[in-house]
Amino acid sequence: MLEIISDPQSMRSEVLKARAAGHRIGFVPTMGALHAGHASLVARAVRECEAVAVSIFVNPTQFGPAEDFERYPRQLQADCQLLNEWKVRWVFAPEAAAIYPPGAATRVVVGGPAGCFEGEVRPGHFEGVATVVCRLFLAVPADAAYFGAKDWQQTLVVKRMVCDLGLAVDVVVCPTVREPDGLAMSSRNALLTPDERHRAVALFESLCCAERMWLAGFAVAGIEQAMREALQARSVSVDYAVVVAADSLEPYDASLAVSQSGAKALPVPVALVAGRVGSTRLIDNRVLPART
Ligand code: AMP
Repeated sequence: MLEIISDPQSMRSEVLKARAAGHRIGFVPTMGALHAGHASLVARAVRECEAVAVSIFVNPTQFGPAEDFERYPRQLQADCQLLNEWKVRWVFAPEAAAIYPPGAATRVVVGGPAGCFEGEVRPGHFEGVATVVCRLFLAVPADAAYFGAKDWQQTLVVKRMVCDLGLAVDVVVCPTVREPDGLAMSSRNALLTPDERHRAVALFESLCCAERMWLAGFAVAGIEQAMREALQARSVSVDYAVVVAADSLEPYDASLAVSQSGAKALPVPVALVAGRVGSTRLIDNRVLPART
């Protein structure tokens, strides 16, 4: 039976009790407005763990002043119903004041993979993400935390933070779940008008185009140009459309030169896209297959 907890200390003691009883605990942090992408993370956690906690917290510090914090969809009751069906043990749904006590002055700042792309377009975003994820990990001291590959850069930032702070949690990255036409599931899709929803498939199309051109042997610059064109063809205003090294987000060609001289394996490339469809900002990515 699902238990809804808002107090971080109570949440922590519940998890520690379950761990002391020998249970493996899984944790899925979310901002709610749950969809099939979240369901896949929860399903994996339920498969791999004896008890699963899901947090629902629309984190104010990861939104910029001009972003969509206010209009971000919120539906706690409906979410809890789903989480009960999905066999989740605890929902952690704190008030902002429990996560950021009055006078809060501590932030977690990650360098490395947080510096480019989303970090550039959304200044302070990853500081907000790292701070809240760290705070959530303290409230939910799980064995494993499940994140979606949909937010590729975020997975790198979280892994970097977990490694640098020596946090004892396994970070598990799960594949992106898509709508039948390829659009990555996202809580923000609910904000699209029917026309915008139709045009939003351009992100997926640009990633398919990247993969086709990659396999056909095109150079990165040509692929990136074609990705931008695929987005612009459906009037998506492009923030970035790139092919970079998947583990470092360094320019692909530069990391290629380094790995060749170091005689290491070739880096795995990832295509990353971000853009605005109307007033809604969407991101997506695709890890590109090895070219033989
Ligand atoms: P959010 O509620 O958007 O903050 O997302 C919570 C978690 O669900 C993050 O780890 C996301 O990467 C993941 N997620 C969001 N959309 C998808 C999707 N379409 N497929 C898989 N995971 C997703």
